[in-house]
Amino acid sequence: MSRELSNWQELLDSFTETGVRQGKVSKIHQTRNNNAERIKILLEDEELRVVLLKWMNHQVKHQRSLEAAICFRETGNRQFSLKDYATCIELYSQSILSCPVENEVECSLAHANRSAALFQLNLFEDCLHDIGMALMKNYPNHLLPKILTRKIKCLRKLGLMEDCQTTLEELEAALMHLQVSEKNKIKSDIKVVMMDHQDNENIQDRDLGFGDRIIPFCGENLSFKGASAALDIRHSMEKGRYVVANRDIMAGETLFVEQPNALVVLSDFQTARCHHCTREMPLKRYPCLSCGKIWFCSNACRQESSCYHTFECGLESILNSVGIAHLGARIVVSYGLETVLGFLKDAESVKKVPGIESTYDTKSYQVMFHLVSHTERMAPDELYQYALTAAFLTLLLEQHTKFFQFASQEARYLVGGLILVHVCQMVSNAHAITELCALDETNERQERIATAIYPSASLMNHSCDPTVINSFQGSTLIVRAIREVRQGEEVFNCYGPHYRRMRRTERLELLESQYSFVCTCEHCRDANTEDFQDVIYSFACPSCSGSLVNPNGSQPSAQYQMTLCRSCRTHQSYFTQLKADLEAVSLDAREAMDQGDIMEAIKLLTKCVQLRNKALFKGHPDLGKSADKLAQCYAFIGKYEECEKMLRISLTAVEQRYGKYSIEMANELQKFTDVLMELASSKNQELRDELVRHLEEAMFIYRIHFGPWSHSYKELQRKKVHLTSLLMK
Ligand SMILES: [Zn+2]
Ligand SMILES: [Zn+2]
Ligand SMILES: [Zn+2]
Ligand SMILES: [Zn+2]
Repeated sequence: MSRELSNWQELLDSFTETGVRQGKVSKIHQTRNNNAERIKILLEDEELRVVLLKWMNHQVKHQRSLEAAICFRETGNRQFSLKDYATCIELYSQSILSCPVENEVECSLAHANRSAALFQLNLFEDCLHDIGMALMKNYPNHLLPKILTRKIKCLRKLGLMEDCQTTLEELEAALMHLQVSEKNKIKSDIKVVMMDHQDNENIQDRDLGFGDRIIPFCGENLSFKGASAALDIRHSMEKGRYVVANRDIMAGETLFVEQPNALVVLSDFQTARCHHCTREMPLKRYPCLSCGKIWFCSNACRQESSCYHTFECGLESILNSVGIAHLGARIVVSYGLETVLGFLKDAESVKKVPGIESTYDTKSYQVMFHLVSHTERMAPDELYQYALTAAFLTLLLEQHTKFFQFASQEARYLVGGLILVHVCQMVSNAHAITELCALDETNERQERIATAIYPSASLMNHSCDPTVINSFQGSTLIVRAIREVRQGEEVFNCYGPHYRRMRRTERLELLESQYSFVCTCEHCRDANTEDFQDVIYSFACPSCSGSLVNPNGSQPSAQYQMTLCRSCRTHQSYFTQLKADLEAVSLDAREAMDQGDIMEAIKLLTKCVQLRNKALFKGHPDLGKSADKLAQCYAFIGKYEECEKMLRISLTAVEQRYGKYSIEMANELQKFTDVLMELASSKNQELRDELVRHLEEAMFIYRIHFGPWSHSYKELQRKKVHLTSLLMK
């Protein structure tokens, strides 16, 4: 495949392959602790530079031609008649961008047409801006009445009456060249506009959208921004910085409410979400008036983004192609050349790690610079690829933006070095912003919307059995405790591998390769303790119902028929349990269910659950699943008491497997409360109390995972209200 046509990763792979052979990969690796030097070596490599530039220019096509400008504008006109104004704005912007400087009239036409689309989207200020641009660029005289009429409408909408009067006079003059009939039409048009009462289009429309979403936060931490006052930063040589509780913390308490320092919306969501804050687009949204491709939820977001979008405008697709490295470059670009170079000159700031005996301010560049990057611990080829990406981004800023306009060559390498630092940081610090998206009325799924950096929450170390759970409110990260934490204990996040979902060996491998550390959490530390996965899939001890782990490893064999129960320390027959389980497997109710023979299915499943209940450990998924299936059959024929008994078995299995505060547990509890509701009115007080208790448990879980604004939480809240009114009768 030719290098120009391959995607970025393929290009990197092919560079790395030749780089290894030519010794370039090891050279970059051996240039220790000098990132600017690494970038310099790469960018001064003539052969490499040529290919990078070729690939870059192939991606950023920037040809100006009158034909292209006309073509974009005419396509825009067709979209206008279809009322797809957003696409119009993009096409007219393309037309403006591709119009040669000397073709002023064509450019003015594109601006004028874009002003019409902006008007349709109620963006009156932007519309006026474009009308101004069109008038500046020799807009044809015979078209003037049309654009001036639009201008008057805008000024009216914005309540700018004085300017309106001046424009009316201009319009009067422009009408001179027109035929009487046309003149009269426009005049009567204007009359209607002027008589129209002032619409209140000009209200500031940046409603926050999350106004009703109150975040509980018990005391803000002034020296550790975004963190609760219950947390402190500690430091040790072997662990680096980490987070501890300075008082006892309850399960459910909010520990971090943090704004991202930088974020990049994933390409799939770029049309649906604000480019700056990830908010879903309101009815009135604001385009970037240069590229017309990027949209914002408010004018404020558009203005705030200009510090970086100025340099990214028109480069979206090439920046998307480098993936998460985009976020690394974004950090440098947002702070600006002056700030980052100024920072590098201040040796004290470069040396001093913030948070240790100093305030940890998530907005400061020093904090961003000192996030963990593991650059010097990376494998040579991995580091080579990151360095190449950083070099490429430096080259992109140099070739296609004014970022380095007044910078020396040395300064460019220094900045490239910083981009490399941030690109490397992304591996262990980038956070996916997820959101619950409704699949249908009852089901929701977590979707990745954007990638962001949260410098404070980043200081939490990993544990395979974490103390916290993360959720998002827009782009705000909310971290809540998922269990109690004692004063002085460390607060742990989970970077992905959780002991309930992955085997120890897989977890250790993943953490080592991605985050360069060996996990020493309780579940990883001792290789002699049983793996949680083995316990869950174990048999039950006949005397104490503890877990009997297969003495033969994963291979079923009759070699060791007896096994030691770790709970009651007696020897038990593993083989008997295995036999019972095999018998249960043979009782397949699927056929009966397929044929609609519910009674036969119940018969088979009952026997199956009986066998499994004796043979399998109470957390075994097979036990839970068959009990759940039987419960469904009972619910189908309205036998709720039997159904309740079965759900208790599957509830225990889910709790054992996923934990008391897991989403799986909440989903199971929700199902269970549905059945209890059926029984509550006819049964005793005890059952009703249990029902309320379970509802509250499920609500608690949804609240800490997704926040009180989630669909699931609100649903249960309604259920509780309904129940209370029912029981009052
Ligand atoms: Zn926004
Ligand atoms: Zn733009
Ligand atoms: Zn671990
Ligand atoms: Zn036992």
